[in-house]
Amino acid sequence: MSVTMEVANRLRSVKPRRAVLEMPEYHPPLAGREALRLDFNENTFEPSPGVIERLRAMTAEGLTKYPEREPVERIVAAHFGLQAEQVLLTNGVDEAIHLLCATFLEAEDEALVWTPSFFMYDVSVQMMTSHLRTVQSDATLEFPFERFLAGITQRTKLIFVASPNNPTGAVVSREHLLAIAAAAPQAVLMVDEAYYHFHGRSTMGDLATVPNLIVARTFSKAYGLANLRIGMLAGNAKLLKYVRKVSSPYNVNGVALDCLPVALADEAYVAWYVEQVRVGRERMMDGLRESGVPFFPSQANFVLINIGPKHKDLVVAMRAHGVLLRDRSADPGCAGFVRITIGLEEHVTRGLAALRSSLEEIGWKKQQVRESAGRQVGGDDVREFE
Ligand code: PMP
Repeated sequence: MSVTMEVANRLRSVKPRRAVLEMPEYHPPLAGREALRLDFNENTFEPSPGVIERLRAMTAEGLTKYPEREPVERIVAAHFGLQAEQVLLTNGVDEAIHLLCATFLEAEDEALVWTPSFFMYDVSVQMMTSHLRTVQSDATLEFPFERFLAGITQRTKLIFVASPNNPTGAVVSREHLLAIAAAAPQAVLMVDEAYYHFHGRSTMGDLATVPNLIVARTFSKAYGLANLRIGMLAGNAKLLKYVRKVSSPYNVNGVALDCLPVALADEAYVAWYVEQVRVGRERMMDGLRESGVPFFPSQANFVLINIGPKHKDLVVAMRAHGVLLRDRSADPGCAGFVRITIGLEEHVTRGLAALRSSLEEIGWKKQQVRESAGRQVGGDDVREFE
């Protein structure tokens, strides 16, 4: 037997956990993104100039050191009016979700999510337990509050709610969030405020009075730092102490840690970028109305539109115009839906122009959407993480 065959034979006896075997493999469609990036809800421009200066000032010796997270957590906590123990910096909110699942979910516990929403919740939950409960929106894609509340049981230990939600752009009211936290005192409620800036309402102010609330924020969107991979959890110090135990002390790299205080301090930059998005979002929604394209009103930096059976054709046509979109058809209840990111005003202008031409080129008619309503169009694709 050859060495290669012998190794292959021996490898057969190594098996990952069943949860891992059952997980779909995922490669985000990140190849060939040399175009206008309206596909991943990123900042479409660049971060604060202060961040770039900071990057240029980094030393070669600095790269040889392990990163120190705690001093930056103190700065971030002060920025949000919290104690240092109430903040945990993470490798993006993606890691924060993993950490929460690893900290709070036993195999027999339940976790509760709303769908369609961010798929990473499902993936991370299913690594720990097979008891993921999902509550699907109706056709409005708004938060199904009553049914969600009814989905809470004694076994519910972790609840994820994104507000604004991705990919819908819908928000969940503070009253509803507080009611959920109160109805599940044995569970942690993680409110994912990844898109907070584009909406402006937070539940961070409730941390002092709601012990089982944890708020997540990312620096990937409004701050334009997606490539640095940095996000945070804010919450009760006792809860975060458990999560900190699970986290590697070096989970966030030193480049990101160095840049974060500079990015946070430049409030003028964030205010400017957010205003660009707010104005652009209105223009996008007006443009969609004019073209007769149905869409879901959004409080985030993207809009979900209903194209119907020609959703794939639209994505291809837009790419030919140099604009990237995301097909969200594989998300539950989203067959035929495509998501477009809102960025700088000039990017919205280019996006809208390309959209008008593409709709014409693919022979899109509102009629097609009506005729396919309620039918599964293209919903057979594999669900994507982001
Ligand atoms: N939460 C939501 C709702 C998101 O849409 C995303 C990213 N698209 C994330 C979290 C992950 O953000 P990060 O880049 O910080 O991992």
